[in-house]
Amino acid sequence: MALIVHKYGGTSMGSPERIRNVAKRVAKWARAGHQMVVVPSAMSGETNRLLGLAKELAPSRATEAYYRELDMLAATGEQASSALLAIALQAENMESVSYAGWQVPIRTDSSYTKARIESIDDQRVRADLAAGKVVIVTGFQGMDDEGNITTLGRGGSDTSAVAVAAAMKADECLIYTDVDGVYTTDPRVVPEARRLLTVSFEEMLEMASLGSKVLQIRSVEFAGKYKVPMRVLSSFTPWDIDIHEEAKSGTLITFEEDEKMEQAVVSGIAFNRDEAKISVLGVPDKPGIAFQILGAVADANIEVDVIIQNVSKDGKTDFSFTVNRGDYARTMELLKEKVVPELGAQEVVGDAKIAKVSIVGIGMRSHVGVASKMFRTLSEEGINIQMISTSEIKTSVVIDEKYVELAVRCLHKAFALDQAVA
Ligand code: ADP
Ligand code: ASP
Ligand code: MG
Repeated sequence: MALIVHKYGGTSMGSPERIRNVAKRVAKWARAGHQMVVVPSAMSGETNRLLGLAKELAPSRATEAYYRELDMLAATGEQASSALLAIALQAENMESVSYAGWQVPIRTDSSYTKARIESIDDQRVRADLAAGKVVIVTGFQGMDDEGNITTLGRGGSDTSAVAVAAAMKADECLIYTDVDGVYTTDPRVVPEARRLLTVSFEEMLEMASLGSKVLQIRSVEFAGKYKVPMRVLSSFTPWDIDIHEEAKSGTLITFEEDEKMEQAVVSGIAFNRDEAKISVLGVPDKPGIAFQILGAVADANIEVDVIIQNVSKDGKTDFSFTVNRGDYARTMELLKEKVVPELGAQEVVGDAKIAKVSIVGIGMRSHVGVASKMFRTLSEEGINIQMISTSEIKTSVVIDEKYVELAVRCLHKAFALDQAVA
């Protein structure tokens, strides 16, 4: 008998019919003798709907008090879907109980809308499992030290599931979604994308952080830290398929570099349209400018991604970096009002219509010329590269947003990702 955590995303929970299917699938696993904890997302569209209502009432609030209420509001989506799943399981004659994050409790810090899980008390869940119940734990939410409801950032139910699996030392965490695994790139953009049978934890971490929204990055971090066996698979197969077949389907996240694993140099391509580029022009080139610019940005709790500083000319230099698009206006304002006058820089210019495209692969460690092949491929398509950032296992470029799909498609082809690996 194993302890298994299942996570079902919004589309998988999207209608009463789909919830019934999830219940039948979970009941099948429970009847096969497994202890089952299930972490559902809100029904698809529900989180957007709720946050949209808040925006209608207060289009541009950015106060702590407002963010607190956003979490109160958004958390109701998962509470509803969890109760519905418990009801559907009961209708299948499975004993089942659902808990909101605060009832478990899942404790987090107080950063509303992007809280981090600090601890999970598994006693209540364990007692129910021992009593033969299927336990449903709401995704996406927790409670801070003062008892306020918090949420974990968009896509955060993945993280809830992996954190619960880690806390309970589950045998496996299965992430059920609307695709049948992790692909070489988003199959919605490149239909030729191929499903990966396995993907290393490091590659998955890079892909998630670089924009592949199939898994929230923190869920991958948790899986790595606690070595949670984790698989991404489809919730759209018939619920009654053979359980052994199901258990081997999808994409397994692996922690060891196995000789027999697919050994492509580039394993996947990620892209992200959520960033904006900001350049501070004509900055006096002297020690401390990076700190003065980025320190002020960090103090405002704004995360910076790609950074470049140009060579100086006549004692002046240009300094560019990217931030989340949601932080763009705030960063521009901060730089114009505070940093530019203090630094004596010439001006600040920005571009919100950029995208970051990245190639990822642990094979890049041992192969030269991978980045240059990427640059050549893009230049052959006439795509201008505005910024570059590299690490051992990835190369990212910032380009004009309008070329993102073209860039992803031609890189996918250039690195033969559409072809099966022997
Ligand atoms: P869920 O609601 O189940 O959490 P998400 O929408 O968050 O589902 O994630 C699944 C989606 O991620 C897929 O429908 C797909 O379009 C997208 N996606 C992006 N990159 C990839 C990738 N490399 N492999 C698979 N899916 C990807
Ligand atoms: N419902 C939340 C969201 O839409 C969390 C999740 O689906 O993982 O972001
Ligand atoms: Mg998701």
